[in-house]
Amino acid sequence: MSKINLLNYSCTDLGKFFLDLDEKSFRAAQVIKWIHQFGVADFSLMTNLSLALRGYLAEHCEVKAPEIAKEQVASDGTRKWLLKLEDDSFIETVFIPEDSRGTLCISSQVGCPLGCSFCATGTLGFKRNLSVAEIIGQLWFAVRKLSPDQTTRTHVITNVVFMGMGEPLLNYTNVLKAIDLMLDDNAYGLSKYKVTISTCGLVPEMLLLKEQSEVALAVSLHAPNDELRSRLMPINKKYPLKELVAVCDHYFEDQKRQVTIEYIMLDEMNDQIEHAKQLVKLLSHGRYKVNLIPGNVVIHADFKPSSQANIDVFRQVLLDAHINTITRKSRGGEIDAACGQLLGSEL
Ligand code: SAH
Ligand code: SF4
Repeated sequence: MSKINLLNYSCTDLGKFFLDLDEKSFRAAQVIKWIHQFGVADFSLMTNLSLALRGYLAEHCEVKAPEIAKEQVASDGTRKWLLKLEDDSFIETVFIPEDSRGTLCISSQVGCPLGCSFCATGTLGFKRNLSVAEIIGQLWFAVRKLSPDQTTRTHVITNVVFMGMGEPLLNYTNVLKAIDLMLDDNAYGLSKYKVTISTCGLVPEMLLLKEQSEVALAVSLHAPNDELRSRLMPINKKYPLKELVAVCDHYFEDQKRQVTIEYIMLDEMNDQIEHAKQLVKLLSHGRYKVNLIPGNVVIHADFKPSSQANIDVFRQVLLDAHINTITRKSRGGEIDAACGQLLGSEL
């Protein structure tokens, strides 16, 4: 009989599990701490549980994260891990260290069904959604890998972004459960402002997310008009810009919420002054922050990264319109670890 993987369980789920076993529900917090705070997978080491309970858990349960198949480290310290799943699929997880923070970029699906033309993951097609264990397992794995010394563990990863492979809002339930654990003080205790879901703009799920979670939202926009966006991102035909901006307006009803716009700079495609002006108009209401991303173009000869000069001019148009705009530094390029370069292949 296969064992129950406790990485799939939030603290609430585990509380119910223990109640069914006639155990006190506070055992859940203890076990969650062992697994996620201390990185312990061996039940015999969970010394504040009774021997009988440790024995039961060892017989029926397991703590099983994706396994490392390959590690690449770039000269800027960015690390990319190829992780192998139980069905022999592969996903990628990237760690980006900076002076004052460490960001883990995680995957939510094997492949992606949405087929954006500039995105390496999109060219793979879609295989399946990740389980909660496979999502939170990326963080569990990375924390153990980066700080074998448990005392420093909590400081290494301060931010998590769903910007790896897949569209997180197409795997809504599992992503939200994994986020529960990320924010849980007994597990990782991350701030809700430091966990970011990035979406290509699935309007109904964005509305739901606004009601059900306070995590940060990033929208992959990449084009300032429907004609161009539909060409680059087929999902725009279903949810055009007007609807996308309207749902962002809902987020702004909450004074504390911000929406980050991701905009890849593609030479002559979307980086002209007229595009910047269209973008200003589109984003004229709301507390948007814009990240201009130098295109990490890997797949299509049709796309070339914008020149630095074009990026600078584009940014200035937005700044002049008082839109908070930064140019994101591309990290880990030489190991194909930058956004949109995640292929999940062993090559
Ligand atoms: N599906 C979600 C999250 C994964 S993609 C989304 O689309 O937002 C993560 C980020 O990488 C997105 O902003 C995506 O648009 C960006 N990206 C994809 N291809 C890229 C490329 N070739 N260069 C730079 N960024 C890219
Ligand atoms: Fe999927 Fe996001 Fe890539 Fe589009 S950019 S294909 S939504 S992973």
